[in-house]
Amino acid sequence: MMQAIVFDIKRYAVHDGPGIRTSVFFKGCPLRCVWCHNPESYKAGIEPICRSNRLGDIEVADESQIGKVYSLDQLIFEIENDQLFFDESGGGVTFSGGEPLMQIDFLEGILKACKEREIHTALDTTAYAKRDKLDRIIDYVDLFLFDLKHMVDEDHRKHTGVSNQLILDNLVYLSEKGKRIIIRFPMIPGYNDSKSNINLMLDFLNQLPSKPEFHILPYHRTGQDKFRRFGIETTMPDIPSLLEEDTVWVQNVFKAEGYTVKVGG
Ligand code: SF4
Repeated sequence: MMQAIVFDIKRYAVHDGPGIRTSVFFKGCPLRCVWCHNPESYKAGIEPICRSNRLGDIEVADESQIGKVYSLDQLIFEIENDQLFFDESGGGVTFSGGEPLMQIDFLEGILKACKEREIHTALDTTAYAKRDKLDRIIDYVDLFLFDLKHMVDEDHRKHTGVSNQLILDNLVYLSEKGKRIIIRFPMIPGYNDSKSNINLMLDFLNQLPSKPEFHILPYHRTGQDKFRRFGIETTMPDIPSLLEEDTVWVQNVFKAEGYTVKVGG
């Protein structure tokens, strides 16, 4: 029986694609972005955790686990529960993570099941995966939410742990296949918000066969709280969240080139 490990399901999401969506977060990620907002997704398996919460003067230990096993039937049941909202809002389901492509057999199965039910599908992906994985799901994904983190390979390796070569190749491939793509740029102060990186990104996107939408995800420090809460080591300095106004100059660069730009997904 096909099973997946999922660490969260968010209903009524409005930033992960069109309309009202159900976002399903798969556990396991091949990247290690220092600014990660979901570090509990790093490892592929279910993890026991012991969190301590303060209730007044009392420290309460809460034993729990990160990740839950779902069969295909269980997950499609969860998704279908929200079909009314999808139909009324033009929404659907978004598979996110972590990296959903790491659980390719299940992902292929659940995408097919969604398409059989005419549910709109989006895949939020790092695209750090071999081409044969993309080929298995490409026909069942209506929209790719494509994370683009850094254009300079050396910096990409330093801040995410992997090269960007495969990711960029896959972006070109999906664009050549005519897939609908939204670029999601997590804008992290001091890491990837230099003028030179923004210009490199623009040059690269300008060469794609069709212009993707460009969404800026301003850095939010909630990830830092999670590192602490889940006892995961971090090298990210304690910097404040980015404000929407801090992204205006990047918005303007892309708007001037004819891109549809949004902030926040
Ligand atoms: S790709 Fe996403 S989930 Fe994976 S480490 Fe980076 S920010 Fe975290």
